[in-house]
Amino acid sequence: MAKKKKKGLSGGAKAGIILVILLAAAALTLGLISYFQPSLTIQLKEEAERNLHKPQSVTESLGEGDTWTLSEEEMLALSNVTFDQSMLLVNGSHKLPADFRADVAEYKTSTVFMNRCIMDSYARLAARIRQDFDEPLYVSSAYRTREEQEEILRESPDVAQEVDASEHQCGLALDVYVPQYAGAGFLRHDAGKFVNEKAWEFGFIIRYPSYGEKETGISFEPWHIRYVGAPHAQYMMENKVTLEAYMEMLPSDTFLKVGHYLVTRQSGDTYTLPKTWESAVISPDNCGGYVMTFYMG
Ligand SMILES: [Zn+2]
Repeated sequence: MAKKKKKGLSGGAKAGIILVILLAAAALTLGLISYFQPSLTIQLKEEAERNLHKPQSVTESLGEGDTWTLSEEEMLALSNVTFDQSMLLVNGSHKLPADFRADVAEYKTSTVFMNRCIMDSYARLAARIRQDFDEPLYVSSAYRTREEQEEILRESPDVAQEVDASEHQCGLALDVYVPQYAGAGFLRHDAGKFVNEKAWEFGFIIRYPSYGEKETGISFEPWHIRYVGAPHAQYMMENKVTLEAYMEMLPSDTFLKVGHYLVTRQSGDTYTLPKTWESAVISPDNCGGYVMTFYMG
């Protein structure tokens, strides 16, 4: 009996060793996958998170005494509002009109042109990357003219967006990298991971996230950041919502409550706004209406 028992223990020890070897092999495999395919690791993690947490959407109705109804002309003439192009929805189904004029300027003296509304945010993001990772955050592509997009489409018809379907034509998108780590390799550098996790703090979203291909029609691009501004960037990234889905969920008769902000998307002859706010941004949505964002303090 004693002998048999001893033999059993020995078998258990063997099984233990095999288990340790299997676990080590699994850990090594996961490590190798996350090194060589960091985008796959992110995709699995984000898809699991997205399935667990459905986006929270809280709307707020304002009483009649708390709102104004203005004509489009009156709304566009408001003086206590920042008008910009931050919330344009641009994709294959929502192309820019041929006469679209992007509000762009040169960033410092870089020869890089970008939309005026994103410059401060890009400067702050680049300063943070420099401070935390000791690397410059470079831009390989920012604003593109219609002609430049035509040329890119001619050169790479399989991957390039159609003319007037690229948000690079608005100057709102930046393809970013740090030296030696461009494209999908951006995620192999901690700066790339930071941009993917925290760019929303600077008003940018990962426009083509790992979980968004069905909605955006474009597979994961960890290098393409798109300015939308606060609080939209925070809401979209925290709730794992693409810009397409976010625009769909913005109410036109009430306001989406996002932190201290009220957001609405309206179109037509008249527009309903709160009577008071601390600051406001109004942007056309490229679908015939406007996205209005009110900071209520
Ligand atoms: Zn891009």
